[in-house]
Amino acid sequence: MEKMSLENIDLKNKKVLMRVDFNVPLQDGKISDDTRIKEALKSIKYILDKNASLILISHLGRPKGKKDSALCLKPVAKRLSELLNQDVKMAPDCIGDETQKLKDSLKPKEILLLENLRFYEAEEKPQKDPSFAEKLAKGCDIFVNDAFGTAHRKHSSTYTITKYFPKKSVAGFLMQKEIDAFSQIIKNPKRPFYAIIGGKKISSKIGVLKSLLEKVDALFIGGAMAYTFFKSMGKNVGKSLVEDDFIKEAQEIMKKCKEKKINLYLPLDIVVANDFKNDAKTIIIDTQKDIPEDFEGMDIGPKTVKKWTELLKNAKTILWNGPLGVFEFENFSKGTNEIAKVISKIKCISIIGGGDSVAAINKLGIADKFTHISTGGGASLEYIEFGSLPGIEALSVK
Ligand code: AMP
Repeated sequence: MEKMSLENIDLKNKKVLMRVDFNVPLQDGKISDDTRIKEALKSIKYILDKNASLILISHLGRPKGKKDSALCLKPVAKRLSELLNQDVKMAPDCIGDETQKLKDSLKPKEILLLENLRFYEAEEKPQKDPSFAEKLAKGCDIFVNDAFGTAHRKHSSTYTITKYFPKKSVAGFLMQKEIDAFSQIIKNPKRPFYAIIGGKKISSKIGVLKSLLEKVDALFIGGAMAYTFFKSMGKNVGKSLVEDDFIKEAQEIMKKCKEKKINLYLPLDIVVANDFKNDAKTIIIDTQKDIPEDFEGMDIGPKTVKKWTELLKNAKTILWNGPLGVFEFENFSKGTNEIAKVISKIKCISIIGGGDSVAAINKLGIADKFTHISTGGGASLEYIEFGSLPGIEALSVK
């Protein structure tokens, strides 16, 4: 059932509470990347344009239910105010008398940012204090969720809160854009549909890998995940990162691929290093061979890049999540960067999820060459796996 979005509700003179994802990276108290704030601007401007007053709520970092001055949202209020060229009021807390007074006195077209939701344990664990969501909702007429990145969590501000806004809980524009992008590829992808999955933890991606087997025409596996697959094939992977508990699962996936005639592409060659550092001694080895005992796999090799480039060219849809090597070290970022550049040049629907793949693309300055760059890593994987997310399910139906 289709969920309501900002365009389906009358905002005029209303008090709007919007959950955003302002979980920005901070360095020495300064915002080092304001992408997440910029992503929310479309919904913010639309709401203000309708003469509504806007109360914004977000988490920042992991304060674990305690106040932490290093994780205050004040720098975000300042940056948002610069971007909008308008004053953004900052509340001292997200609930409480003083904050409520500020909420109640907010005038049309004014913005108030409440303090970090995760200063309260009940944000992430609503059962600890069922009144927390009610306090957040107090005095507001409409709830908007524009935080796709946390929509896979049943938190007070993403899930519980919607019960205080029956028929008035709607998706923001950013949320809508994410829903549109992912629902298209899971329901009706243009074929061939290829998925490239990299990153470190097979355990966190096993669910999505399994569900992708029902959808894709080919699966490309890179990053550290590939070594669990190699080990499950009986190869010696040296010091490479392996999740032994998932060897059976890797075998299961390979078996399923065979049954379903889905091509599974593992790296043909890899760059291995004798230490986990940028200037370690490296060798490129063929994956037909074992990795030497004291070496570990760090990146996909040139033969793999060449082969995958040829194969990917045919794609009509590409989903990519997770770096193909330890891309944080320049010497092992080649595989990730080369494949990113290759996808950027293919005429297809390209959807990128996961903070690291997105960071690599942003660093290369090619973000505008992709169809959709998701703001949610874990959320996008769960959306693909389950076909929806709790935070989306909780929104009102059209
Ligand atoms: P994930 O959060 O599971 O997407 O994993 C992202 C992380 O995987 C990045 O920090 C990469 O450095 C790391 N990674 C990718 N390839 C490898 C590898 N071959 N060995 C160790 N870590 C890797």
